[in-house]
Amino acid sequence: MQNYDAEWKDLAPRDVVARSIYHEMLTHGVTNMYLDLRSTIPEARIREHFPNIYQKCLAYGIDLTRDLVPVVPGAHYSCGGIWVDEWGLSTIDRLYAIGEVACTGLHGANRLASTSLLEGLVWGKRTAQHIVQQHPDRSAPDPALIPPWRYIGDEVPDPALIGQDMSSIKNMMWNYVGLVRTTDRLNRALRELRNLESEIERFYRSSKLTDGLIGLRNAARTAVIVTMAAWENKQSMGCHYRE
Ligand SMILES: Cc1cc2nc3c(=O)[nH]c(=O)nc-3n(C[C@H](O)[C@H](O)[C@H](O)COP(=O)(O)OP(=O)(O)OC[C@H]3O[C@@H](n4cnc5c(N)ncnc54)[C@H](O)[C@@H]3O)c2cc1C
Repeated sequence: MQNYDAEWKDLAPRDVVARSIYHEMLTHGVTNMYLDLRSTIPEARIREHFPNIYQKCLAYGIDLTRDLVPVVPGAHYSCGGIWVDEWGLSTIDRLYAIGEVACTGLHGANRLASTSLLEGLVWGKRTAQHIVQQHPDRSAPDPALIPPWRYIGDEVPDPALIGQDMSSIKNMMWNYVGLVRTTDRLNRALRELRNLESEIERFYRSSKLTDGLIGLRNAARTAVIVTMAAWENKQSMGCHYRE
């Protein structure tokens, strides 16, 4: 890390550390970097401070007190989402969103450690208060009044196809809309994701619905929206980085 952030080194913000690891992996053509705890933290302290991850790594044959630990950057939060106000209310009347799916404005362009769970807690409470205040007399709809789902098609979704499409979306998002975004990568992702999305939409219209198919359709839509937003945003800030 001294080559990337001489002052903060591995304590630099998470997006900086992640991009540095990614850059080293690309430069050296390797699939991971190594984390070295053994030469900086005494053995007893590693066991005492990191008991869970110590046991977890042991199960994979890695002893944190003796071995180098293979690491790669991984997505563990998202920034942005459904735009809501300070009460969790979206721009659609009576539709609320809270937690990871919501964009409350609290995090800005990056998340600081441990603010996500606090946000969920605070907005969960505020949203509940708002609903009770704004809609005191509203009761849940009578399920008997909700018409049954009408299936349009009768093709049976093939789980292998759903699995393959889902992993294509994940790979595309990781490689083209990931840590370092370029116009070429984003263009390529948009082309391929739109093709995939229209293919999935056609399939969705002609198939019996399953949880996997609904999830795949939502994933394709979300991927297109995220990629379009990344494409339009030319300014690098926080976890959105354009080269
Ligand atoms: C590895 C990792 C480490 C993290 N570390 C921290 C940390 O240290 N501190 C911190 O503050 N935050 C941390 N976060 C972020 C934090 O955990 C999340 O932001 C938070 O858990 C989001 O809560 P949520 O309730 O909004 O969403 P989730 O916890 O994702 O809950 C969504 C729920 O909806 C369910 N669901 C999905 N689809 C459907 C469907 N169609 N029908 C019914 N149910 C559905 C899911 O099964 C899930 O239970 C971490 C995240 C990760 C991945």
